This record gives sequence, C-alpha cells and structure tokens, in this order.
Amino acid sequence: MMGEGKIFVGLVDGAIKVNCRIAFDEPVTEFRFSLSTLLNIDDLSEKCEVVKTWVVRSGFHEAREYLVKPKNGAFKELVIDYSGTVSGWHNVLSESRIGLYGYSVWYPLECSIKLRKIESTFNDTVNYDVWYFGSSGIFALKKGYGTVSSACGNFNVHYVNPGQKAFAKVCAHHYGKIIDFYQSMFCGKDIGITDVLFMDIEGGSGAIIQDGLMVVGQIPDMKDADEMQEMAINMLGHEFGHYWFKADHSTWEAWLGETAAEWASILYMVSVSGEDSINSRLDQIQEWTGDYVKAPVIKTPDLLCPPSGVHVRGVMLFYEIYKRHGLDKIKHILTILANLEIYNTESLLLELDEGVSDFIRRGLDAVDYMLL
Ligand SMILES: [Zn+2]
Repeated sequence: MMGEGKIFVGLVDGAIKVNCRIAFDEPVTEFRFSLSTLLNIDDLSEKCEVVKTWVVRSGFHEAREYLVKPKNGAFKELVIDYSGTVSGWHNVLSESRIGLYGYSVWYPLECSIKLRKIESTFNDTVNYDVWYFGSSGIFALKKGYGTVSSACGNFNVHYVNPGQKAFAKVCAHHYGKIIDFYQSMFCGKDIGITDVLFMDIEGGSGAIIQDGLMVVGQIPDMKDADEMQEMAINMLGHEFGHYWFKADHSTWEAWLGETAAEWASILYMVSVSGEDSINSRLDQIQEWTGDYVKAPVIKTPDLLCPPSGVHVRGVMLFYEIYKRHGLDKIKHILTILANLEIYNTESLLLELDEGVSDFIRRGLDAVDYMLL
C-alpha cells in the first residue's frame, strides 16, 4: 500500500504556505505523518480530522506527529494546508532567497503509508528562479542575482551577495581543473552541468551536492586570493569528490565516501600547493570538527543514523596511512575505491594488501589510530 504526494509552496510574509495533496492507492482508515513543530496545520480535507498529535525528534529537527482519521468510512485523498517557517541547516526564507532543505521536516515525513513519490513545486516562478534538490528540497533566488560561469560553461555559480562574486570566480577557475584531475586519476565520468547556489545563510555552514545542484550555506569572509583558493579547493574538491565517492548516510559505511571525497580534495590541493600543505590542512580539519579521538568510532552499531565522527575519523585514519606509507598509497586506495563494482568497506579491503587492509579493519573500531 502506497501513495503519492504533490506539494505546492508559496511564500507569504517570510513564511511558507503549503498546499499538500496526497493520493493513496486504495482507501485508508488512518494516516500518520510528521511536520516540523515550526509549522501549523491551517486546513484539512473536509472528510478528515486530526485525532491525536504528539512531539517527536525526527531527523535533525523537532517534529510533531499527526494522526488523521476519516470522520466516516475511509478516504483516498488527503489535502493538508499548512504554514510557518523553518530554520537551521540550509533553510532560509527571505525576500532574496528561499531554501527548504528536505530533512528539515517541512513536508510530511515519517508517513505511516509510504509515499513513493513527492513532487514539490515552488509557486512563484515570476519573481524567482527555482532549483529542486532531489524531490524534497526547494531552493529559489529572486531574479536579478549574479552568475559566474566556468570557461567550459558546465559550472554556473549563482550569488545574491555581490561581495561573493570574487570567490565565485575562483570557484569557476578551479572547477574544470578539479574535474580533469579526478577524471585522469580515478576514472572517466560524465559530470554534466552543475549549478551552485551561494545561499548566504548565517550559521548554515557546509555544502550539499546532488544531481547537478550544489547548495552552499554561509561563506566566511576571506581576506586574500590565497584564502579564497584554499576555500574553493576544500569545498569543490570535497563536493565533486562525491561524484566518484558516494556517501550513504544511513549507515556507518558513509565513512568511505566522506573520507575518500576529502582525500581526493587533498590530492588536488597537493597538485596545486605541494605536499607541505597536507599537515596544515589536517590541523584545520581537526580544529573544525574537533578532536577525532572524542568522536564515536567509525563502525557504530546503530544503522539508523550517521556516526557523528564520520567526517573526521576516516580522514584521520587515512592520514595515519599517509604518514606510514606515503601519498601514493592514498592514490592507490582511492583509485581502487572509485572503480569497485560493489562499493563497500569489505570489497575495498579485499583489494588492498594485507598490511593496509588489516590497519583499516582495526581502525574501524579503534579510538586512537596513532596507537594502532
Ligand atoms: Zn561529504
């Protein structure tokens, strides 16, 4: 038993106003879903009523669950109107830019009947250009924003804040070089066109990438060209690394993709700035993400959520391999990983020499890699 959802989103006075229509394959007698606690239901299909609500943690946000039942018999379609704001992560609702990130529970999640598809539409295409992040994220910029493109035309950075144009240019410059570098080092790949949105969200650190759309939260103030180059390489190197190294964040195996994407970016950085830059980059990563020794080990038993240490632990484990075996060993591991038929830790370890595979295997549960 499944259903499909269609969502129409508008912006009114800095809040979203959503009309959500869910069609079930067969009539149902109840439906349960969750929405962010920042959103309120304004209206519901005439034939239905909310009989119970309670607050739960859902993904990264606090959500309220709703249990909807028909007033009589069963229902095959449910229309929910809701409104409110969402905040945090890559969410922003301002006049110049709109960011609705999928996991922020701004649309019905944790549904008791699986929705095979949710189609989202942002209504105001007169004033805004709109990009969709998978099926669940909506990003829109008010027309009149600036764009910088790479020489090949496959990479377009869109920015609202004119102060970010210089950085957009640095990104466009490195894009083609990074792609060429990865193509020749790992394996050929059809990359297609990528749109990058500088969302300029205060406190919204980091970038996300999927299907030709990269969304960047807050970009720090940078004082000179060197700093911009470093930032562009760190950000693009990692995010485009994910085209070769996927990270499924529903399991601890995410460490593979995050580690490899980060080290791919380090390899490119070395080709630009030399091998001396590795130590300072690793110091920086430790500074941003915290002491890895305090983070959960890579192989967490909980398969439902990503280990919080995933972004720093694997990177530090590979740093130990680099210190012991040199940079060629890292290139070797990444090239094997990029070409694996079955992409998981076990398949990778089977392809590596015993010393390195044993070291990684022990590292999956270890607290401090320097002791291995
Ligand atoms: Zn990543």
